[in-house]
Amino acid sequence: MKIGTPKEIFEGERRVAMTPDSAAALQKLGHECVVEAGAGTQAGFADADYKAAGVEVVKTAAALWKAADVVAKVRVPDATEMKRLREDQTLISFFSPVADEDKMQAAAKKGATVIAMEMIPRISRAQKMDALSSMANIAGYRAVIEAGNNFGRFFTGQITAAGKVPPAKVLVVGAGVAGLAAIGTSTSLGAITYAFDVRPEVAEQVESMGAEFVYLDFEEEQQDGSSSGGYASVSSPEFREAQLAKFRELAPEMDIVITTALIPNREAPELWTEDMVKAMKPGSVIVDLAAEKGGNCKLTVADEKIVTDNGVTIIGYTDFPSRMATQSSSLYATNIRHLMTDLTPEKDGVINHDMEDDVIRGATIAHGQEVTFPPPPPKVA
Ligand code: NAD
Repeated sequence: MKIGTPKEIFEGERRVAMTPDSAAALQKLGHECVVEAGAGTQAGFADADYKAAGVEVVKTAAALWKAADVVAKVRVPDATEMKRLREDQTLISFFSPVADEDKMQAAAKKGATVIAMEMIPRISRAQKMDALSSMANIAGYRAVIEAGNNFGRFFTGQITAAGKVPPAKVLVVGAGVAGLAAIGTSTSLGAITYAFDVRPEVAEQVESMGAEFVYLDFEEEQQDGSSSGGYASVSSPEFREAQLAKFRELAPEMDIVITTALIPNREAPELWTEDMVKAMKPGSVIVDLAAEKGGNCKLTVADEKIVTDNGVTIIGYTDFPSRMATQSSSLYATNIRHLMTDLTPEKDGVINHDMEDDVIRGATIAHGQEVTFPPPPPKVA
């Protein structure tokens, strides 16, 4: 089969779904690879690098879509790309089947097969294909770097001839994949790091990374905000009040707050209120990784950096992985390469789209002229 990767056309998107390294691995599975000219330029991969890895480089997006049996890309296809998608093609991409239901229906009607990368089940066997986790890991790391870039002091404490510097205090709200990456980055830079999550089982992970878990003044048995599959559920009003009271207490002390709290299929919970922002010291920084879902901080403006009247910087960028396009392209392309390995069991360049396979079934949203979303729950953990 010919696997093809076009240049992303979503404004500001720098990632690419195939790298010269992933192309080399795809060829070992018996596939041929093709990219659109310039597809990897913004991620640091030149056309010459692809050619050296045995990849065909075609001049236009139209030629790419025409040549490929499987199109691997990053963003949900736009209207032009949807027109180019053919009935005999497989598309592998982030797809947002709920928000982009029309496109999913259209793809199914055509008879194309669509694998949505965010639908890869979050089970142990599928971790190597879990693009949500690899992108969240980058977002968490980058959030700390972005905070540091906007913070006027060191993270680590120092005693120098020119004076004593206290360590920065960082609070990470939400200790899922992005939050844990932010904690790891922040502690490795030497900050005193605190973290909170509604799921008490993450306290151990938080502490193992050198941060302090923030406990609430709340009956322990009522503190569990876990739902199924490692995700959070909506907090009770009493729990939320206890959480906000604790954050109010912490706000004047914290130099950097990184919020990552999300609940599946909902707007992000509002956890950092206006009065908390007002209580923070001038020069403090908030990075709101939930900005795309409405933000955890009341004052966040999606895709912008603002500075409040009391001198607090609030960063609401929604493109953290794209800001580290080389790294995120490498990891995303590797996720896709692992998926292709499972789709090519004989390593003979022939795809076997096995709908009995939990992972392939779970991620497939259109196949055989049918919409196959939502999938049944996976059989194994
Ligand atoms: P997410 O992005 O949905 O949420 C981020 C975090 O916000 C979660 O830890 C959640 O508990 C927390 N949160 C929600 N409401 C909150 C609130 N009011 N206050 C504070 N925190 C709040 O989650 P995620 O990072 O995608 O993953 C969550 C979990 O899923 C992981 O920790 C892990 O257990 C599981 N997971 C498993 C696999 C796997 O097995 N392959 C892969 C990835 C994730």
